Amino acid sequence: MKYFSFEQNCFLDELRKINSNLDFELMKKGYYFAQKAHLGQKRNSGEDYLTHPACVCHILAKLNLEAETLTAGLLHDVLEDTAYELKDIRKEFGEEIADLVNGVTKFNYYPYASKKNRPQIQAENYRKLLISISKDVRVLLIKLADRLHNMRTLDYMSEEKRKRIARETLDIYAPLANRFGIAKIQWELEDLAFKYLYPQQYHQLVKLVSIRREERESYINDINKEIKIKLKKNRIEAQVIGRSKHFYSIYKKSTTKKIRFEEILDLIGIRIIVPTVEDCYKSLGIIQTEFTPLKNSLKDYILQPKSNNYQSIHLVVSDIQNRKVEIQIRTKQMHYIAEEGIAAHWRYKELYHQDQMNRKGEIIVENLQSAYHEQLQWIRKFLKKQQDSDANSFLDSLKLNLFPDIIVVRTPQNDYIELRKESTCLDFAFKIHTEVGFHCIGALINGVHKPVRTKLKTGDIVQILTSPQAKPSKDWLKFITSSKAKQKIRSYFREIEWQDATNMGKELFQKRSRKYHLRIKTEDEILSIARKFKINDIRTFYAALGNKDLTFDSILRILNKDTVGLSDQESDAETIVELKDLPQITIEDIDQVLVRFAKCCNPKPGDEIVGYTTRGRGVTIHRKNCSNPGFLHLRQCEPERIIRVAWKKEVKKDD
Ligand code: MN
Repeated sequence: MKYFSFEQNCFLDELRKINSNLDFELMKKGYYFAQKAHLGQKRNSGEDYLTHPACVCHILAKLNLEAETLTAGLLHDVLEDTAYELKDIRKEFGEEIADLVNGVTKFNYYPYASKKNRPQIQAENYRKLLISISKDVRVLLIKLADRLHNMRTLDYMSEEKRKRIARETLDIYAPLANRFGIAKIQWELEDLAFKYLYPQQYHQLVKLVSIRREERESYINDINKEIKIKLKKNRIEAQVIGRSKHFYSIYKKSTTKKIRFEEILDLIGIRIIVPTVEDCYKSLGIIQTEFTPLKNSLKDYILQPKSNNYQSIHLVVSDIQNRKVEIQIRTKQMHYIAEEGIAAHWRYKELYHQDQMNRKGEIIVENLQSAYHEQLQWIRKFLKKQQDSDANSFLDSLKLNLFPDIIVVRTPQNDYIELRKESTCLDFAFKIHTEVGFHCIGALINGVHKPVRTKLKTGDIVQILTSPQAKPSKDWLKFITSSKAKQKIRSYFREIEWQDATNMGKELFQKRSRKYHLRIKTEDEILSIARKFKINDIRTFYAALGNKDLTFDSILRILNKDTVGLSDQESDAETIVELKDLPQITIEDIDQVLVRFAKCCNPKPGDEIVGYTTRGRGVTIHRKNCSNPGFLHLRQCEPERIIRVAWKKEVKKDD
């Protein structure tokens, strides 16, 4: 990406190119004031300091903001870094601009910052910033433009500082931009932070993107033309553009959804911008008939805007070559709001004249500020709640609160615990400790007794109640959200089942051994039998017996004992017909398994037969032409469980 490069003599002309309607008297005054104030100061890059406020101003101009905000952008570092004071700015530029500049200026309580008091300084600075934003949201826009230019020039900082600033950008500034819908800035901030925090992954992605860029671009070109023509036929004047995904979102998607970079890159993104809401739905209809929409991929954010006022229709389709294309359909105004969020508010004069008749369903730009009311409300509430908290807990809860998918609850000891939205008491218990989870019987939420399945919300104070006798229930799997906890519960039950099988197997083995007067006493003796079945430890041997993967008959056979009379009432499987003389069937490479004959086709010696290995119940023999639908289904779904069997010799079967 090529950034704006600042040149002193033509700076104001550059601004004029972006927006000729600005108050240039004011801009000029601001510019010369900043020049005078920062005279002789240099950036780390060696450039004049003035380049920085000028670039910040340029970023704000690109957001189409008015001259007051732009001027405040030019002056934003004057209070922090020069000899001028607030009263000087107030005198020269008036209350409004002075307030904006003061709003973005840090507190100077701690002139000698050290690592030790950094949290205090940070907390105070964020607190002040949030208060200023809640009074005038333009403070946020200036702060974001400031941060963006600093991120663009981060190369000139020390490694340690680069990482710290990038982290802060990802934790605080990008989420703030997101809350107010300023996607344009959010994405660039995220990509730059990503580059410095995860350089390896970043460069891997950059390389991957460049490899197939041409192929992708020519495909995007083709499909753009195709869509455009189809819409034009229906008299819709659309702007159709390919949409490049930003690196950080690809990275995030690949880690959270476990998708490879390549797969995400293969998904082509197209955006259709049309004049009216009506055209949005018309275009949707055309796309749906001309392409094959993917099931459940349609999302209507026009009817139901996202919490940051984003509006669009989303749809994934596949083309004739079965390539997947992500399509977004929106009006121009929705597009501005999607990219610039609350900053689009100041475009309103331009937009107002566009088409007042077709506003149905759109968020009205003039009311954007009140549309972001909820976000401002959130900031005010947050500040009030955190009034008395110390620096560290203020910082933690600020970071956590900025992410909309996360809730933050507290322990009675005032520790903050971060959970995914929709988390329950039980998720919280497992987050503290697996044992706490296993013995959880409920919780006190804000002092009120609640059951384990209760959903938590940000701000709840949660005290988990446990009982040493309590045990996990399989029911828990239905409502717990944490996949880690789910895994732990599942392995708990696997362990229990294994234990049961082992106990049952042991009991069966001991009972039968007594009955047949087998003199198997020592562990070594048992182990030597187990080894004959290729089992190397006694517990597994018992479990195999308990699970009926192994029959006592086969043990007896191995010990050359007479097995007559075994399939009597003592047999532990009433529906199973055990073969008294196994050798009549040869089962591929497997000896000594439990065999039974299927009731559906009742195979007789001489019939062509196949075996089906059941889970834990040996092998079931069917006729090869058995037409039982259940069996046919199994045969189709799990062909790997079908084995070849044959009658070994003509022996009569009992059943
Ligand atoms: Mn600055």
